[in-house]
Amino acid sequence: MTIENMQSEYLNFKKNPNPDDFGDSIESFLNYLKKATAIFVSGQDSSKRRAVCTLLHGNEPSGTQAIFDFLKSKEIPRFDTLFIIASVQAASAEPLFSQRMQQGKRDLNRCFSAPYDDQQGQIAKAIFDLLKHVKPECVIDIHNTSGSGPAFGVAIVEDANHIAITSLFTNDLIVTDLRLGALMELSEPKMITVTIECGGAQDRSSQLIAQEGLYRYLSTENVLAQADDEYLINIYHNPIRLETRDQGEVAYSNEPQENVVITLPEEAEKFNYGMLTNDEFIGYLSPDGMAQLTAKDYLGNERLDEFFEEREGKLFSRHPIKVFMMTTNPLIAKTDCLFYFIGHR
Ligand SMILES: [Zn+2]
Repeated sequence: MTIENMQSEYLNFKKNPNPDDFGDSIESFLNYLKKATAIFVSGQDSSKRRAVCTLLHGNEPSGTQAIFDFLKSKEIPRFDTLFIIASVQAASAEPLFSQRMQQGKRDLNRCFSAPYDDQQGQIAKAIFDLLKHVKPECVIDIHNTSGSGPAFGVAIVEDANHIAITSLFTNDLIVTDLRLGALMELSEPKMITVTIECGGAQDRSSQLIAQEGLYRYLSTENVLAQADDEYLINIYHNPIRLETRDQGEVAYSNEPQENVVITLPEEAEKFNYGMLTNDEFIGYLSPDGMAQLTAKDYLGNERLDEFFEEREGKLFSRHPIKVFMMTTNPLIAKTDCLFYFIGHR
């Protein structure tokens, strides 16, 4: 099958489209795309291919903006490039870029493992099939964190290639054994896949990180590791998710709220920066709040009491921890997790 035949019910396919047709804004670009779309752009050299995926989450615009800016510049990528812009329909719901996924649909970045039987699963499978067909040497998947915070990469393998790709965007890499059905879990030696979290959707820096990193990724001769290269990357292993049991409610306020498991401060995103020490309180617990929290590691072991304790109705860490992806969105907090953390002991 040729690449041109990869058009499917679930994934639009466009080869070398004219960027003048995209309009002048990311809004007009969404309108042009209409649904999940793959754009294949011929490079200066067709001896290998690279891929960029983004917008698996419809409320994370930085990758789409970076792709739009790159394509509009009419710069020719170094090698043939496949761009995949996934949750166009979720992102197009008003207000634009406010919905992580379409109402009642699954989180697309949890659908890259069987069964693929619903619509989101079919979109994921169409993306997977296209990647298998195009055979890029590497894939980056650009996201925004749900709260404000610094950029980092996420991979399932710690090796020089995953580190080299991360280094195009950021100096921090999380390596995880947790399997959720995310695109990066498709990583294999012939298709190195790294998730790039380029910071919060509202952070000005996120846009620059996505734009500049994408430019480096698309214009550099070698993005995989070279024999003599050294990368100054901090690596964090297996962050643990702090969650409420049974999707218990989470509130954000500087006063303790009723009918919630925990009340986090309005400015909880501050925990995404630096280390959280064991004398800084994380939130107000309800009377049985501690029992309604869970922090299981990737092996399924409960680690809550090892890392956290209650002091006078407030949640504290027992040891300094590094927090990632703290959200201030109560819906994401209860349905996904409050934050990820790594213990330092
Ligand atoms: Zn995301």
